[in-house]
Formats: sequence, structure tokens, C-alpha cells
Amino acid sequence: MTAIRTTNMPDGSAMPVFGLGTWHMGGNASAFADEVAALRAGLDLGVTLIDTAEMYASGGAERVVAEAIKGRRDETFLVSKVLPTNAAYDKTIAACEASLERLGTDHLDLYLYHWPSGTPFEDTIRAFEDLQQDGKILRWGVSNFDVDEMEAVEEISDACQANQVLYNLMRRGIEHDLVDWCEARSMPIMAYSPLEQGSLLNDTIVREIAEARNATPAQIALAWILRNPSAVVIPKSSKPERIRENLGALDIALSDEELEALDDAFPPPSDKQSLEMI
Ligand code: NDP
Repeated sequence: MTAIRTTNMPDGSAMPVFGLGTWHMGGNASAFADEVAALRAGLDLGVTLIDTAEMYASGGAERVVAEAIKGRRDETFLVSKVLPTNAAYDKTIAACEASLERLGTDHLDLYLYHWPSGTPFEDTIRAFEDLQQDGKILRWGVSNFDVDEMEAVEEISDACQANQVLYNLMRRGIEHDLVDWCEARSMPIMAYSPLEQGSLLNDTIVREIAEARNATPAQIALAWILRNPSAVVIPKSSKPERIRENLGALDIALSDEELEALDDAFPPPSDKQSLEMI
């Protein structure tokens, strides 16, 4: 079993730096058992963080997660998200309750606002505060929020605990400002699509670095994100052997030479870029 490093959130509690993504799970009945088995294999390997959302397969992914964590809720750090179409106060409360029902649990460890919408942030944050007061969520955060949106949130509340954003070697825009903004508040960046949904794995440089140190391209791509101690990766796989492989990233510290080669192939941003989303 792997002991997974943690990073602290602004409230002082710990978030594991490696979790399991679930997008595209739960949409196909014939894959259900394999998806449940993959998440259970992850839990058996010591992974506790599971990232899901009401959006994924319209609740289907949450049902996969429910089956996987049956009898093991206590060992799980459960993250789900409210859709922008449910960002109004009443709808957020109802959406959270529906997620809890599908997940077969009475609370979430972290509830995220999936991406910003026209609903005033005050409404959604008030719902988060009431859900927290009722013990239905332990804490809340956001996703796909750029610096200006983080600042707008901070004007309302200082209780945001995480920002989940697109971040991988091919998507480095947030290094210009958002990474520092979050780090200054010890707020974890949860890097989604850390493998660029698989496309990074065919990159020549990533493959060369992997081969030279007897690792795999996925491990190099994840280790690169994990070079930042407050970054969290949530790769998705429905295959237990790949989850085991991905976890190997935690044992890899990339050398200065390797990091330079990756910088040459995937240059860091030289100016502000608008936040990318998948
Ligand atoms: P990832 O970058 O995690 O890539 C997932 C893809 O890579 C799958 O096709 C998977 O296939 C494959 N894969 C995983 N591990 C390996 C490996 N070791 N070797 C080869 N292929 C591999 O993409 P996601 O978009 O799924 O992002 C991860 C998670 O982030 C999501 O599942 C979701 O939970 C979250 N997310 C959040 C968003 C947001 O807006 N907040 C947006 C997008 C994602 P297979 O399953 O067959 O192994």
C-alpha cells in the first residue's frame, strides 16, 4: 500500500496529492463493474481521494463511486461538484442533496463549484456555508476559476479550500499567476486532465525521459505536476494496472536536466493567458 503524501488546505486539513478521476465513468452499463473494480483497486492501493461530479454521466459516475466506496466511506476523501446551472442558492442545496443520495453518503469532504456562471457568487457561497453548517459538506472550493474570479470569491469569503483547473505539461498558462495566487493562500491546485486525456503519453520528449529512467510516460507527466508540493493530480483510469502505474509517479523526482528538457518542449507562459478549460 502506498502512503500518499498530502498537502494542506487553507483550513489546515490535509488533502492527498493523488486521487482518482471519474469523468466518463457511469455512462455505459456494461462498463459499470470494471469501473467499480478500478476504483476499489485504487482504494486497496491506498488512494483515498475520489473526484466526481453531478455532471459526469448525469449522476452515473456518482453511482459508480457509491458502489466502490460501499462500506469504505471512512477511508475516502470524496469530492463532487455542482453544475453552474444549479448555482442558485436553492438549486445548490438540492444538487448537493441529490449527489449525497447517489453517492450513498451523508457528507462530502469537498464540494466544488464546477465552473463560474452568471449567478452571483454570493448565492452559491451562501448555499455552501449552509451545507457546511448542516454537516453535508466538510468544506468547499471552486473549479475553472481564474485569478479575477478567485479575487471576487475572496471578497465574499476566505473559506475557499481548493481550485481545480486544467493543468499539465501542455497547459501551463496558470503558472503565470494563478499558481502563485493559490500558493500564497496555501490553497491546493487540483490538476485535472493531468495526462491531457492520454495525448501527452505519445509525446517524444516525455517518452524519451520515461525510457531513460525505466518509468512510463504517464508517470513522467504526473511527476512533473507533483514537482509542485501543493499540486494534486486526479488521473482517471478504469484499469487497475494503470492506477498502480500512475501511483508510481509519487516516487519520481525529476532532475534539473529532465525539467529543462520538458521546459524546452513545453515552454512556460511568458504572459497572461486566459484560463483554459476542457
Ligand atoms: P486524464 O488526463 O486523467 O486522462 C484520462 C485518460 O487517460 C483515459 O482515457 C484513461 O484511459 C487514460 N489513462 C489513464 N492512465 C493511463 C496510463 N497510465 N496509460 C495510458 N493511458 C492512461 O483525463 P480526465 O479528463 O479524465 O481528467 C482526470 C479527472 O479530472 C476527470 O476524470 C475528472 O474527475 C476531473 N476533471 C475535472 C474537470 C473540471 O472541469 N473540474 C474537467 C475534466 C476532468 P483508461 O480509463 O482506459 O485507462
